[in-house]
Amino acid sequence: MSNDPSYSDPSHDAPLYLEPRLAPRAAALLESPALLHTLVDALGSPLNVILPDQIADNVRGFRAVFARHRLAGRVFFAHKANRSSALVRRLTTTGAALDAASLTELQHALGSGFAGADVMATGPKDPEFLWLAARSGALLNADGPGELERAAAVVRGHGLPRLRVLVRLSGFEAAGARRLSRRSRFGTSVKSLHHLLDVLDRHRAELEPVGVGYHLDTTSVEEKATALEGCLHAMEELRIRGLRPTAIDVGGGFGVGYLAHAAQWERYTTELTRAVMGTRPPLSWGGHGYGLRAENGTLRGALGLYPAHRPTVGPGYLDELLAHPAPGLGRPLGTLLLEGLYDLYAEPGRALADQCGLTLGRVLEVRDSDGGEKLVRLAMNAGDVGLEDHGVLVDPVVLPRSPAPPDAGAPVAVHLMGNLCLESDLITRRTVFLPRQPRPGDLLAFANTAGYCMDFGATRAQGQAVARKVAVHEAEDGGWQWCLDEQYWPLTRTGEAQG
Ligand SMILES: *Cc1c(COP(=O)(O)O)cnc(C)c1O
Repeated sequence: MSNDPSYSDPSHDAPLYLEPRLAPRAAALLESPALLHTLVDALGSPLNVILPDQIADNVRGFRAVFARHRLAGRVFFAHKANRSSALVRRLTTTGAALDAASLTELQHALGSGFAGADVMATGPKDPEFLWLAARSGALLNADGPGELERAAAVVRGHGLPRLRVLVRLSGFEAAGARRLSRRSRFGTSVKSLHHLLDVLDRHRAELEPVGVGYHLDTTSVEEKATALEGCLHAMEELRIRGLRPTAIDVGGGFGVGYLAHAAQWERYTTELTRAVMGTRPPLSWGGHGYGLRAENGTLRGALGLYPAHRPTVGPGYLDELLAHPAPGLGRPLGTLLLEGLYDLYAEPGRALADQCGLTLGRVLEVRDSDGGEKLVRLAMNAGDVGLEDHGVLVDPVVLPRSPAPPDAGAPVAVHLMGNLCLESDLITRRTVFLPRQPRPGDLLAFANTAGYCMDFGATRAQGQAVARKVAVHEAEDGGWQWCLDEQYWPLTRTGEAQG
C-alpha cells in the first residue's frame, strides 16, 4: 500500500462506469430480459444476438451523407466484421453492396442473394477466390500488379467477360509535408502507379479499370484527406492514359462510438493513468496499464485503446471527410469528387455493424479471491467477446435471472473471468464496476459486439461451445420474433426504402 495521502481519497471508491451507448432497438431488446434468458436457456451460453433491421438503418445513414454531398456511388459492407447470414441477407434488400475478403465470404454473399455485380472482392486472393470473383462478375479490388496479371490470366484462360478492377493505392504523401501515411502491407504505393497503369494498358482486353481507392486503418481525417486527394490525382493519371475511370473507393474505418457518456470515458482514462502511476488503487488485473507504464515516477508508453467515445463516427465521419478541404487543392473533397463526376465507394465494416448485435454470457460463479478481489466467472471466454482484444472498454449490462432483492443495490467492482483453464482468459483485464453484484444465473450482456467482437476470434479451445447466433426482429404487433441466424431470410420485410 502506498503512503500517498491521495491513495485513500474516498473518491477512489466511487464506481468508474463505462456505460454502453445503446440505440433504441438494442435498448428495447435489453428491456426484454425474459426473452434473452429463455434464448440462453435453450441455446446455451455464450449466445450472439443479431438485430438485422439495424443494418438497414445504418445503410440509410451512409446514403444520407452521399445525398447531402450530391454524390452517386455505393456502400459496400465489409463482410469480415461479422459472419452472420441474417445481416448479409438483410443487406440484399437495402441497395447496399458487399466487400468479400475471402472465397468463403464471396460464396456466402452469392448464396445469400447478392448478385456478383454487387460484390467487391478485396483482401488477399487465392486462385479459387480470384476465379469465382471473375466468374461471378464481381468487382476486383486489386492489391498490385501481380494480382492484375493473375486476374487477366484467369479471364483469358476461362474466356470470361472483361473484369472490372479497382486498384488499391497506399503510401500517400501530403504535398511538401512530412510523410503522413502509415506503412501498409496492402495496396501499391502511389509512386508505382505508372507500373500499374502499364499492366492495365497491356490487359485492356481482359480488365476494365473502374477507379482507384485506399483503405487506411486510422482515425485521422487529415491522413484520409491526403489519401483521397492522392486518389483524385491518380484518376487524372488514368485519364491521361486514355482510360475512363468512374469511382474512388475511400475504404472503411469510419468508427463506432461505444460509450454513452464522454465524461465517463475522460474520467476513466484519467484514473487509469493515476492507477499506473500508483497514486490510486489499481484498475486492472495484475496492474495491466493498456500500454501505459510508470518508470521511475514518469509515465511512459501510449494508451493502446480504441477511442471508445468519439464525437464523430460512422456516417458523420464520412461527412467530415467529404467536407474537409483537400490538403493541396484547398477545396472540399466532396466538391472535387462531384466536379470530377466520380462515384464514391465506401466499405464500412464496423460502422455498418454498429448496434447490430450483442453477446450474452451466463454468470457461473461469484467468489472472492485470496487478494480480496471479487471474481465473476462466465460461461464464455475471451475469444467469444472480442471487445478487449480490440481495445474497446465498455461495461456489460447485468440482466438478473430473477428480480433483485431490495438490498442488492450496492455498486461493486469485479473481475470477469472466462471458462478456459488459462490464466490469461480474462473477458477484460480491467476492473469492471457494476451497479450491483451479479449472481449465478444472471446474464451479462455485452452490447454492440457485431463489428469484429462477436465471431472474429471465437475458437473451440478446450471443446467449449462456440456461441450460436440468433436473429431477432420486431414483429408487426410490436413483439420480438427470433430464429437461428442461418434460418433468417428477409421475406416478410415490407415497405423498405431501397438504396
Ligand atoms: C477491414 C476492411 C474494411 C472495413 O474496415 P472497418 O474499420 O471495419 O470499417 C474495409 N475495406 C478493407 C479493404 C478492409 O480490409
